Amino acid sequence: MPRGVTPRQPSRSGRQDKVSSRPLPTTVKVRRVAPVVKTADKVVAPMAARRAAPKKFATKTTAATVKGYNPLARERVGEILKRLDERYPRATCALHHKSAWELLVATILSAQCTDARVNMVTPVIFAKYPTVEAFAALKPEGLEPDIRSTGFFRNKSKSVVGAARKLMSDFGGQVPRTMDELLQIPGVARKTANVVLGTWFKIADGVVVDTHVQRISRRLELTKNDDPQKIEQDLMKVIPRDKWIIFAHQIIMHGRALCIARKPKCVDCPLENLCHAADKTWSTVEIHKSAKP
Ligand code: SF4
Repeated sequence: MPRGVTPRQPSRSGRQDKVSSRPLPTTVKVRRVAPVVKTADKVVAPMAARRAAPKKFATKTTAATVKGYNPLARERVGEILKRLDERYPRATCALHHKSAWELLVATILSAQCTDARVNMVTPVIFAKYPTVEAFAALKPEGLEPDIRSTGFFRNKSKSVVGAARKLMSDFGGQVPRTMDELLQIPGVARKTANVVLGTWFKIADGVVVDTHVQRISRRLELTKNDDPQKIEQDLMKVIPRDKWIIFAHQIIMHGRALCIARKPKCVDCPLENLCHAADKTWSTVEIHKSAKP
């Protein structure tokens, strides 16, 4: 017998398929058989074994094909938060500051720049211009040389001097404590406002969405959106309010330490068996196309 040819087996009913074109009587029960879905081995090996094991991926699939899987399930989100607490218990803002004003300036300067670089620049400018009034009295060009190394220095100079003038003219020289007021300040959008409100005033009015929060929230399927404002709204729905501030700090630390943009260090990640991201570098669970980088 040629290879690959299997003799046809007689049907159990004794009839061959499609012998009759008559519809089944309504009393006949048709048993539905669930399609076989290959699932990966979910057993998490000890770390040493995991490191030694070759890279392996489970069959690609989408979240919708995994029966009963809900990335936003309270238990799953709770487990993510628990593991983040264990891994980053003292997560906080990495920008050095001694006042709300210093934090506001540092956050404006941190756009497209590392916190380490900003932390080199801010002590110099705060020594040179120790008050909000001193910044407000500057021309933007006067600040440019001091902040040049943070990049986009012309726009940042305008924002910092503009912010100082706004505080002097409208807020008595003080950084306001509400989102609406903060958003009136030049150079301040929701991310900066959330940093100042959460880190300095301990007010949870939203979730800081920077590049790390944006990337990792998508990898963890906490959002499907690209737009930071929509991501923030999604996170505010699934993260309990009392976690909004620390969650962002933890995710930012996680993004720097392990869940980096290129080649995340999944083998060392405490969230590994909860994460189905399409660009994981190592996985013990199914990969979901919907969990995009
Ligand atoms: S498993 Fe990998 S992709 Fe997922 S959160 Fe951890 S480091 Fe990021």
